[in-house]
Amino acid sequence: MNLEPYYIPEPNSGCWLWLGPILHAGTRRQKPYGRLGRELAHRLSFIFFKGPIPDGLEVDHICNNGLCINPDHLQAITHAENIRRALSATCIRGHTLSGDNLIPMTGKRAGERRCRTCYQLRRSRLQDKYNATKREKHRRMREMGLNSRGKPRIG
Ligand SMILES: [Zn+2]
Ligand SMILES: [Zn+2]
Repeated sequence: MNLEPYYIPEPNSGCWLWLGPILHAGTRRQKPYGRLGRELAHRLSFIFFKGPIPDGLEVDHICNNGLCINPDHLQAITHAENIRRALSATCIRGHTLSGDNLIPMTGKRAGERRCRTCYQLRRSRLQDKYNATKREKHRRMREMGLNSRGKPRIG
C-alpha cells in the first residue's frame, strides 16, 4: 500500500493533509475524516506506519485535525480517553470547551458545543458597535443643534 499520492504535508502544523475521499464532508456536526474504501484514512496510516491497532483502542489525532494522517500525530487510545479528550477540546480560539464555558445546544443544533467566552466576546463587540453608532448619531444631532429626541435645543 502506498499512501503517498493521497496526502500533502503541511509545513506549519506538520500535518499530512488527506487528499482522497472524505467521510462527513460538508457536515458541520460530524468531524470530517479521510477515508479509503471503507476504512478511515488515519487508521490506515496508523496500521501502515506503526502496525496493528491494539485490541479495543481507537486512533486519535493529537493535532485534532481529522484530515491529518501523519503517523506522528496519531495515537492509539481507549474509547474512554477519546471521549475525555473530545470533551475537553477547545474552541477555534483555544478556549476550553468544558464546564461553565460550554453552552450545550438544544433543538436543531443539539450536539453542537458552543464556547461561552466567544459568544460573550461577540456580544460585547456587537454592543460596542451599537453604542458607537448611537454616540455618533447623538454627536451629529448636537452639531445640528438638536437634543437626543431630535427636537431643537432650547437655549
Ligand atoms: Zn496532524
Ligand atoms: Zn472560544
